[in-house]
Amino acid sequence: MRSFVLGLKQKSSASPRASILLLKGARQRRDMTGNKLLLCTDMDATIIPSGSHLEHPEARERFRNLCSCSEVRLAYVSSWSLDQVTRAIMEYNLPMPNHIITDVGTKIYRHHQGAWDEVGAWQKEISHAWNGKGHAELQHALAACQDLKLQESSNQNEFKLSYYLSLRVPPKQILNWVEQQLAQQKVEFELSWSIDEVKRVGLLDILPRNAGKRDAIEFLLQELNLNLDQVLFAGDSGSDLPVLSSPIRSVLVANAEAEIRKQAIELSAAYDCSERLYLARSENNLFDGNYAAGVLQGIYHFFPEFINESSRRRINCKGMDDVAKHGSRKSFA
Ligand SMILES: [Mg+2]
Repeated sequence: MRSFVLGLKQKSSASPRASILLLKGARQRRDMTGNKLLLCTDMDATIIPSGSHLEHPEARERFRNLCSCSEVRLAYVSSWSLDQVTRAIMEYNLPMPNHIITDVGTKIYRHHQGAWDEVGAWQKEISHAWNGKGHAELQHALAACQDLKLQESSNQNEFKLSYYLSLRVPPKQILNWVEQQLAQQKVEFELSWSIDEVKRVGLLDILPRNAGKRDAIEFLLQELNLNLDQVLFAGDSGSDLPVLSSPIRSVLVANAEAEIRKQAIELSAAYDCSERLYLARSENNLFDGNYAAGVLQGIYHFFPEFINESSRRRINCKGMDDVAKHGSRKSFA
């Protein structure tokens, strides 16, 4: 499915949790004893090849090697469900993550003794925004709109209500109406919408206001006692824009649509976060910037000291060594 979000409710770059994480980072930099990296990456069209762009034949292997570093904690951040994510890990031979953020950020799982445990504290935190309302009340409030059709049950969860959106009328017209109806329900919400270009249908996710991908990543950082200087996010599409334009260091892979690149540049500038966004480039022959190769470029751009220290300590980190050996900061910049 190739789709991209055309409209998102953005939050200020200085969210309360982001401010705490930034302050914590300033304190921890002075006494940091070892590098740690929480690598958060979208899956479809970020590390999983999708669409017309070619994947470098060595990109995924190098990505797997890098993720085997003991200093790297890996989190997949996806719009997909846990079942879809775990199937994709097997199908595309991806490294096993420590955490999975699914359903556009509404669920977080941690790997524990061979199973995936849902993080209950996250569910508790996001539950307040809907003010005790459930799907039944929200669906009832939106029932009068003929241009909204409920998505399949596999695309729904307790805090994610998803509809197909008819493109018969301008989507913004419907979205404005949805906002009005939900406001009357006194719920705090976030709308994430996109267009499935293949099926020519809109996709609308209604989420608690504090439950997007960015919120989930910031929550995970706090849970792991890490700060904003110890995380990198990689993405490609509109549902990734709230993270790409935030204080979280991010890389937009080179295969992203031109429209997404434009929006990412504009939004990150608007939130004064341009220096926290890296646009992977395709002109490097070894690391062409598409998919996992773009993620590697982003790590090299933001964490050269991490690469150098990893090489010095000779940890089992072939991916880092490869990047250090074949690339120069200049060639990626
Ligand atoms: Mg994607």
